[in-house]
Amino acid sequence: ILVSDIMYQSFYSVSRNETIENASTLMVKKKVNHLPVVSEDGKLEGIVTSWDITKAVACKITELDEIITRNVKYVFSGDKIETASSIMEDYSISALPVIDFENRVIGMVTSESISALIGKFG
Ligand code: SAM
Repeated sequence: ILVSDIMYQSFYSVSRNETIENASTLMVKKKVNHLPVVSEDGKLEGIVTSWDITKAVACKITELDEIITRNVKYVFSGDKIETASSIMEDYSISALPVIDFENRVIGMVTSESISALIGKFG
């Protein structure tokens, strides 16, 4: 089974110039915990999560740019889901942007996508 079989093709993203308030509003409205940060041409620059927003509140950080994780882990759509699971396990993270060979975000894979898949076998 490949990442392309389970990835969410519709996803929400933010630009690094966005405000923390807008990013958190988007997370609440769309009920997501992870937003890939993309450039104007859709290239992956980082990720921001509800955990990062919590940190911003606790540390009184006001700029989204300061809480973005830039060393973002990702997968390709042709990778096996085992690869995605091991990366998430190794780094204790629960979502990975899926990118193409030009570094453009084309989807998201989360621990929920993998649980949903396992649920199908139950
Ligand atoms: N490795 C973290 C640690 O040891 O502190 C554990 C995860 S921590 C609860 C959440 C952090 O992981 C957030 O700062 C978030 O931005 C980051 N994160 C989430 N998804 C990521 C990904 N795909 N690549 C890199 N970092 C990610």
